[in-house]
Amino acid sequence: MSKYVDRMIEQLNKTYPWEKEFLQASIEVLESLRPVMEKDSRYEEAAILERIVVPERTIMFRVPWMDDNGKYHVNHGFRVQFNSALGPYKGGLRFHPSVNLSILKFLGFEQIFKNSLTGLPMGGGKGGSDFDPRGKSSAEVMRFCQSFMSELWRHIGQDLDVPAGDIGVGGREIGFLMGQYKKLANIHQGGVLTGKGQGWGGSKMRPEATGFGVVYFAQEMLATKGDSFEGKKVAISGFGNVAWGAVRKATELGAKVVTISGPDGFVYDANGISTPEKIAYMLEMRASGRDKAQDYADKFGAEFHAGKRPWCTPVDVAIPCATQNELGLEDVKELKKNGVIAIPEASNMSTTPEAMEFLFETDILFSPGKASNAGGVATSGLEMSQNSLRFGWESDEVDQKLHTIMKNIHKSCKEAAEQFGTPGNYVNGANIAGFLRVANAMIDQGVC
Ligand code: GLU
Repeated sequence: MSKYVDRMIEQLNKTYPWEKEFLQASIEVLESLRPVMEKDSRYEEAAILERIVVPERTIMFRVPWMDDNGKYHVNHGFRVQFNSALGPYKGGLRFHPSVNLSILKFLGFEQIFKNSLTGLPMGGGKGGSDFDPRGKSSAEVMRFCQSFMSELWRHIGQDLDVPAGDIGVGGREIGFLMGQYKKLANIHQGGVLTGKGQGWGGSKMRPEATGFGVVYFAQEMLATKGDSFEGKKVAISGFGNVAWGAVRKATELGAKVVTISGPDGFVYDANGISTPEKIAYMLEMRASGRDKAQDYADKFGAEFHAGKRPWCTPVDVAIPCATQNELGLEDVKELKKNGVIAIPEASNMSTTPEAMEFLFETDILFSPGKASNAGGVATSGLEMSQNSLRFGWESDEVDQKLHTIMKNIHKSCKEAAEQFGTPGNYVNGANIAGFLRVANAMIDQGVC
């Protein structure tokens, strides 16, 4: 079905054979769009697919910096300004050694649909660097951020492109980036970055938002089966900001989170990662820059499984919060065997295509990151509004808005999946609902 989609997939494979992650993300979306293209020829006539897969602009630059011993280093800097049909480009910056153009194009592409699903006026973009923050001193991180912003500042603005955090970029880095932006642009443009300190324009609840949002989304999925988080056993991967928020909210809703993980392995805590002390320790682990999950096991006397991922643990709900392709076919088979009922993605594109195919054949509730992790960027959108208003909502007000947005995203994904013939398939639902809003705006805006 849909020759237009076949043609596009062939073209993408031919044009970007080396952009593995971007191909994975874009082909997944194109596959979901088949029934839409069959039904409405306007998208083909306006060459929407040809346009939507090409970033409006990509900036690549050199980031030179000096370490504490006076040694020179050079990293690659990027900003992919993918689509501005719905608003200024919006999306995070990732600092991680794996970063390359393919990864940032996949993330920027996902961001278009995710931001569209929030219902807020935000286009899609992503950026970052192959800089490795692990083991770097705060002074080194600051000098790196200053150098990165020395080029980026001329390409961003509150009505142009609004970067934020992602892996390796948190409150501290946003602070350093803002300091340099202000100096070079000679303006305190509050809305040019989100995830700012809460004393200087940052939204309350932004650190919690992605993790809380994914649990709100999962709550809606479970409710379609008359179920809830109460009494559920949950496996979470990662121990960063997103994992921290998800542990907190799932625990609050009566679940017992038994795992977190890091690049070194996973922790199994039979008593649950449930006390305020344990949850707060996750923040300390992140701030230490050691990137070791074992620190938790050592401190609280929990089991540590070196070199393993948490998916072999028997749980009801599995929430991948670490990075792309962290859930493979063998992992989802194991989770299914152990009776998992829901897998809401919190990291972007957590699941490999083969694992996703397998999940579609089961009755496991599965949602793609672009839907279930949209609470982070949605709260960034709220931060932009608050900055424009020179005003800030209280935590409970932001939380309430976030909850409503997540419920609405769940509803639009569910309805789009039903309307286009695959009820219960949140991947198709998210891709279609996200696409329609962007594509219709692109049609309205003519050839651009
Ligand atoms: N990096 C986050 C994401 O993947 C947040 C982006 C933002 O707040 O702009 O959506």
